[in-house]
Amino acid sequence: MKLLEGKTALVTGASRGIGEAIAKKLAESGANIAFTYLSSAEKAMALENALHATGVKAIGYKSDASSFAEAEKLVGNVLMEFQTIDIVVNNAGITRDNLILRMSEQQWDEIMTTNLKSVFNISKNVVKPMMKQRSGSIINLSSIVGITGNAGQTNYAASKAGVIGFTKSLAKELGSRNIRCNAIAPGFIETDMTHGISEEMKEQFKKNIPLGRYGSAEEVAKVVLFLASDLSSYVNGQVISVCGGLNT
Ligand code: NAP
Repeated sequence: MKLLEGKTALVTGASRGIGEAIAKKLAESGANIAFTYLSSAEKAMALENALHATGVKAIGYKSDASSFAEAEKLVGNVLMEFQTIDIVVNNAGITRDNLILRMSEQQWDEIMTTNLKSVFNISKNVVKPMMKQRSGSIINLSSIVGITGNAGQTNYAASKAGVIGFTKSLAKELGSRNIRCNAIAPGFIETDMTHGISEEMKEQFKKNIPLGRYGSAEEVAKVVLFLASDLSSYVNGQVISVCGGLNT
């Protein structure tokens, strides 16, 4: 029997990057997958087909993670279609980098609603069904900059630090119900999010990473698999850095 057979995972923002790798990794281990995207409809369709090919049930939903109303509707639809939600991966996220002198209120607000409020939106709506089934694993994507800070990313770093505070608080609230909540703090991972960084800057960053390279989305997905499964049955309220040793 596969590690996650009979389980359903809801992964937000899975049309590209880390979310896509997470959806594939959890499906490989037998989980049925409900996932969301915002605008990449074709990529979402391709992912749905790739997941079906692994033999699991999979549905992609267009749903804006920053909207509470859409999260409520999404969770209702997923429960109707899949009956349970055992694993939630709050992965959807964006950057709107700028120095504070140039940062607009809109850049601040977009980051807060997409990266932080989104985690509340989905968690709030899955907690009741998870309490009823007396089990669940919620995994939130933070970032090492939520721990260390980063010039040019006050908005992003604050949102990701917020994700850590939320994760630890929820873990304390729901541990007695056998619902675990943990966060992952990736370092530099090769995705569209880091694509815009110049080669020169990348070489500079690599010098500070003990493993001497960027990570892959799959390397983050492997840690999600650990946290999603019973392999981590006594891990709760933790932040696991996946950063090649950068945050050490
Ligand atoms: P990415 O390649 O830019 O992909 C972002 C994904 O999120 C896409 O599937 C996108 O959907 C979705 N998304 C964005 N806004 C959304 C919204 N409002 N509602 C629903 N879905 C939305 O990013 P990534 O690098 O994979 O990052 C994934 C997560 O890891 C993020 O939370 C990010 O902050 C975190 N992280 C990444 C790194 C890194 O180095 N890459 C490091 C630390 C933390 P569409 O395709 O439809 O736009």
